Amino acid sequence: MYAGLGAVGALGLAAGGFAYAAMWPGSRIFGPAIRAPRRPGELALTFDDGPNPTWTPRLLETLASYDVRATFFMVGHYAEAEPALVRRMAEAGHEIGNHTWSHPNLAMTAPERVRDELARTRETLEQITGKAVRYFRPPFGARRPDVLRTARRLGMAPVLWNAMTSDWEDPSADRIAERLMGKIDSYARRGWAANIVLHDGGHLSLGVNREPSITAAGLLLARYASTHRFVTLDAWE
Ligand SMILES: [Zn+2]
Repeated sequence: MYAGLGAVGALGLAAGGFAYAAMWPGSRIFGPAIRAPRRPGELALTFDDGPNPTWTPRLLETLASYDVRATFFMVGHYAEAEPALVRRMAEAGHEIGNHTWSHPNLAMTAPERVRDELARTRETLEQITGKAVRYFRPPFGARRPDVLRTARRLGMAPVLWNAMTSDWEDPSADRIAERLMGKIDSYARRGWAANIVLHDGGHLSLGVNREPSITAAGLLLARYASTHRFVTLDAWE
């Protein structure tokens, strides 16, 4: 626990450090969240901000061609607009997680609305898929202790990540994949699994172009399918 506090302290500052830690995936001062275990060779592909009616189906085809299941953290109101797609994903064995209803920064959202964002999304996803929603990823990684408590009370484990790049603003699939491979290989050398984030959607609107991210996912699958094990998050509990 003190490792997180020490690292924040090393950055100096009090109020600024607190705000920074709220957005920092490695920080544990707001309570534990799933990142990645000491299981080198295991990769969790996770996708945020979907479902996306244009790009998620292409991604599903790529995943199916490698017989790989992924975890999708969905925006509730997009899921409500695309129930057939969400159902198809659950039926294909992908894990469906909660990424709030409207993608607010939860570190700056009133507790009542936090609960509403999480509960409404969970109910919508469960109604569509008939399966329990067991994981929650806070938008922007932003959180407070009560946000994580609320998620747990609603039956969901908070999830962060350890391998991300700015795939949402990078037009080059090669560069996105290369940056992620650097992180994945570096974690593997140090004995850690990788919890990889890519975006199959965008929180500002439904159906944004995610060709670079989806192509990058294909490059990661091509590179690691024969040497690593792709898992969904339930493998890490
Ligand atoms: Zn997001």
